Amino acid sequence: MPVIESEEHKALRAAVAALGAKYGRDYLTNAVSSGRHPRELWAEAAALGYLGVNLPEEYGGGGGGIAELSIVLEELGAAGCPLLMLVVSPAICGTVIARFGTGEQKREWLPALADGTRTMAFGITEPDAGSNSHRITTTARRDPGTGDWLLTGRKVFVSGVDTADATLVVGRTETVSAGGGRTGNLKPCLFIVPRDTEGFQRHAIDMELNASERQFELVLDDVRLPAGALVGEEDAGLLQLFAGLNPERIMGAAFAIGMGRYALARAVEYARERTVWKVPIGAHQAIAHPLAQAHIELETARLMMQKAAHLCDAGDDIGAGEAANMAKYAAGEACVKAVDQAVHTLGGNGLTREYGLASLITAARVSRIAPVSREMILNYVSHQTLGLPKSY
Ligand SMILES: Cc1cc2nc3c(=O)[nH]c(=O)nc-3n(C[C@H](O)[C@H](O)[C@H](O)COP(=O)(O)OP(=O)(O)OC[C@H]3O[C@@H](n4cnc5c(N)ncnc54)[C@H](O)[C@@H]3O)c2cc1C
Repeated sequence: MPVIESEEHKALRAAVAALGAKYGRDYLTNAVSSGRHPRELWAEAAALGYLGVNLPEEYGGGGGGIAELSIVLEELGAAGCPLLMLVVSPAICGTVIARFGTGEQKREWLPALADGTRTMAFGITEPDAGSNSHRITTTARRDPGTGDWLLTGRKVFVSGVDTADATLVVGRTETVSAGGGRTGNLKPCLFIVPRDTEGFQRHAIDMELNASERQFELVLDDVRLPAGALVGEEDAGLLQLFAGLNPERIMGAAFAIGMGRYALARAVEYARERTVWKVPIGAHQAIAHPLAQAHIELETARLMMQKAAHLCDAGDDIGAGEAANMAKYAAGEACVKAVDQAVHTLGGNGLTREYGLASLITAARVSRIAPVSREMILNYVSHQTLGLPKSY
């Protein structure tokens, strides 16, 4: 019998669930309403080794992979207190630096990302490119005199830039055709941009989201960076970028599954008790079946997430790419449906602040849009898996 979840993973899941239960939804809601970041939870999760569980042991991490980190995020989410920056700081940035960073970058960043004392945001989305990352225009050029990089461009919706010590910014160096013109092909390269670098401006976007992490528009105006700010090789940028995107999608799935489980658990509790006829409303199949469906869909999504994490940790980037996309899709859809059904199950109470479920309707929609939208995953599967022609 193949083991889907090892005893170690079950133990990690139980331990993180206990930490989540100690903080819970009220802790996060209070932090959000008072404009604070959930620092205590972040620090305790770090001290217990959960934040850096995927990072190499020689740099202070747990020596595990995305399989373990996704368990951490899912369980905190299921307890009502997810930490969105886990998707970005240890999962994307930590993976990219661990795999491709220079010795100096690893020594500088990995121990601090693992012990939670520093965080790193990740910026790829641009206002005029959106889902089409081949169209990004944030451009890196070398100052021939100093060897420094000069980075110019704009980004949008980048999470956590205000609290992160640096942002891993995806730029491009232009590829030039034989005739000397721009080919339009993305030749991405990744730069570590410290928060207070001159010319690196951020403006918070006013989001209708009840979350402690804020999203920012970034303007980079000839931001001067030392040669050592480039992560890895200039020519291996696409490989490096993909190394970060699989963990991002798997963690996106974990975020969605955790939220869906939290909402479903609240609905089930309510449906067991609430009685307006002779039996609790949970006895009516019109209430019970959609909740059962939500549970099945969340479990199914988790299975695909585990497959994706397994492939990712085994170093199969191509196989993981397909599974990570499918997991993110399945989890996003399951989350949206679970939250919708949970709110409905509570009737009028589903829309009260006291029960705290209505704000999850907006939050759940994030998992359909970010980090990659439902349609772009359907495009990926249509083209890459099924071999159908492209419309764009
Ligand atoms: C809360 C939140 C946090 C985020 N955090 C980050 C972050 O930390 N870093 C970062 O870089 N980005 C971040 N993002 C951005 C996110 O990754 C993008 O919003 C997402 O990739 C979609 O891009 P877009 O918003 O420009 O939508 P668009 O690309 O404009 O798409 C709009 C709609 O059109 C559809 N569409 C577009 N092209 C096609 C097509 N070819 N076929 C079919 N449908 C299509 C899309 O699916 C979508 O429904 C965040 C977004 C949110 C909401």
